[in-house]
Amino acid sequence: MRDDDNDTRLFDTLEHYILEHYPNPERIGCLDQDLLRRFVETPELLDLSDPKYLHVFKCAECTRELGDLRRIREARIQQDVVSSPFSSAGMKAIEKWRRHIVTAAFKTRMLVRRFVERLKSVFR
Ligand SMILES: [Zn+2]
Repeated sequence: MRDDDNDTRLFDTLEHYILEHYPNPERIGCLDQDLLRRFVETPELLDLSDPKYLHVFKCAECTRELGDLRRIREARIQQDVVSSPFSSAGMKAIEKWRRHIVTAAFKTRMLVRRFVERLKSVFR
């Protein structure tokens, strides 16, 4: 199975692993909320080679917060897709629907045609 563009499956696997193996109830060495948010929202603006970010891969609490922030972000992106049909993701969604509708219309037409043929044969 192919992963999606956000490596969701990979991330989920990692998330579960960290949650299970690195509990940190005392929040020792944790990154602050603002930093976690930026980690999710604009990772390209952070220097991810900074060793302090390795903390999140060894902390169930930070990982849980990151997971929540990531899900909130994804929900918001979904919302954006619906409300702005001209974004590329929105266009992709519309294209998918269009194809779906065309296929459905085609099937309906075939069904109607077959039905008409049968009617014709009955009333001949
Ligand atoms: Zn932490």
